[in-house]
Amino acid sequence: MKYIGTRDKSFEVTASQAIIKGICPDGGLFVPEEMPVLGKSIEELKGMSYKELAFEILKAFLDDFTDEEISYAVNGAYDEKFDTPEIAPLVKKDGVYFLELFHGKTIAFKDMALSILPYLMKISAKKNGLTDKEIVILTATSGDTGKAALEGFADVEGTSIIVFFPESGVSRIQKLQMVTQEGKNTCVAGILGNFDDAQTAVKNIFTDEALCNELEKKGFVFSSANSINIGRLVPQVVYYVHSYVKLLERNEIKPGEKINFVVPTGNFGNILAGYYAKLIGVPVNKLICASNDNKVLYDFFKTGVYNKNREFMVTISPSMDILVSSNLERLICAKVGQTETAKLMGELSSNGEYEVKAEFTDFVPEFATEDETRKGIKELFEKAGYVMDTHTAVAYEGYKKYLAETGDETKTVIVSTASPYKFTKDVLKAIDNKYADIDDFEAMKVLESISGVKIPAPIKDIDKKEIRHKNVCPKDGLKDFVKNHLA
Ligand SMILES: *Cc1c(COP(=O)(O)O)cnc(C)c1O
Repeated sequence: MKYIGTRDKSFEVTASQAIIKGICPDGGLFVPEEMPVLGKSIEELKGMSYKELAFEILKAFLDDFTDEEISYAVNGAYDEKFDTPEIAPLVKKDGVYFLELFHGKTIAFKDMALSILPYLMKISAKKNGLTDKEIVILTATSGDTGKAALEGFADVEGTSIIVFFPESGVSRIQKLQMVTQEGKNTCVAGILGNFDDAQTAVKNIFTDEALCNELEKKGFVFSSANSINIGRLVPQVVYYVHSYVKLLERNEIKPGEKINFVVPTGNFGNILAGYYAKLIGVPVNKLICASNDNKVLYDFFKTGVYNKNREFMVTISPSMDILVSSNLERLICAKVGQTETAKLMGELSSNGEYEVKAEFTDFVPEFATEDETRKGIKELFEKAGYVMDTHTAVAYEGYKKYLAETGDETKTVIVSTASPYKFTKDVLKAIDNKYADIDDFEAMKVLESISGVKIPAPIKDIDKKEIRHKNVCPKDGLKDFVKNHLA
C-alpha cells in the first residue's frame, strides 16, 4: 500500500517513509492511496483487548512493518502508563456513551497516538537507513499535543523534540505540564502568537528546502508529531473500532447497527480518524463535528466556504482554538482529488478562503458557545454526577442541538478528549460560580471532593515541579529559534 500526497499524487511513499517525512515537500499531507481492508470482520474483533485491536488496525495501515515491529510498538505504548487496563473506557451517562480517551500520562486524548508514535518513528528510521541521523520532532501545539509528544519522545535515543505553544493561549495546567518537562532532548518555547501562527511557521520550516538540506548535512532530519503525520492518525482509528466492539460485546447494539460519534474538533485529526474507521468497515451513521466559537468548520460544512479570515477567539476549550484545520485537506482530497485540492489550498494561503463544491453527507456540523459549554458541564453534573472537561462539553452541547434538530435515535458515542482536571478552574466555575476566583490547585481539591474522581497523579503536584523551559519566541522567529537550538 502506498501513501500519496493530497496536492500531488506523484509523491508516493511507504507508510514508514510517510511517518518519517510527516508532510510532503509541497506542503500537502500523506493519505493512503486506497483504504486498507482489515484481515478480520468487526464481529471477529469481539473479545479483543485494546492492544490486540491496535495490532490488527496498525497492521492493515502500516503494511511495510513486520508483525514483530507492530507488536513491539503496541506493547510498549499501551501499558501501565495508562491508569486503567481498559485504556479507553466507554461509560454510559444520561443515555449516551462517553469514550474516555484521557487515561494516559498527560490526561488528554493525544496520548492515544503519541504514546506509540515514538516507537513507530524509531522503527521507520531504521527501516529507511536513517539510524545515523537525529530525528528532530517539531511540534506546534494548541495545548495538549505538546505535552503528550514531550512525554512520548523524552529521552528517546536518536530523537530530539522542540515544542511551540501559544504563550497566552493555553490553560495554566497545560503550560505547567510543558514547561516542567524533563528529558535531555526536550525543548519548549512559548510563542507570541496563536496556534495557527505556530502551525504555519512549523509547516514552513518543514517545507524550507534550503534549511532542511543545511540541517541534514549536520545530521538532522525533521519530522512532525502533529496530526499532519499519518503516524498520529492511524493509532486514532483504533479507539473508534474499540468503542464499537465494546458496544457489541455489551449487547448495547446488534451486529451491523450503525452508531454516531460526536467529536470536539480543532485540527480535524480526531474526527478524520473516525471517518477512516467508517471507511474500513465500522458501521457509522453520522460523525458530528462539534466546534467552539472558532466555528470555521461549522460554517464550512453548512456553506461549502472555508474562511479563516475572522477573529481568533480564545475560549475555555483552548485545544480547539484553531482556524486552519489541517486535516480537512485529507477529506477534501478524498472528495475532489489532488489537482483541485492543490488549487484550493493555494487559495487558502493567499486569500484565506476557498469554496468546495462537494457533498459531505457523513458529517454533521454543530457548535457550542462559551455559555452553552458551561451550561452543559453543570447540567450533566447535576443529572448524572459526571464531570466533563470543557472540550467534551462542546461535543455534548453539539449533540443536544443535533438531537433537537433531527430526533435521531441512533446510539451515540461522545468522544471525551480530556480529563476535567486539565481545565479544573473553568470546569468548577461552570458547576458553581461561587468557585470563580479560586486558584487551580484549590479547584482540584474541590473537584475531587464533589466528583469523587481522584486528582490524576501526573498533575497532582505539578505546581511544585521545577520550571525547566523559559523560552519565549516572536511568531516570526521560529526558524531562527530552531537553527540556534540545533547549532
Ligand atoms: C487536540 C484536542 C482536540 C481537537 O482535536 P483535533 O484532532 O485537533 O480535532 C479536542 N479536545 C482536546 C482536549 C484536545 O487536546
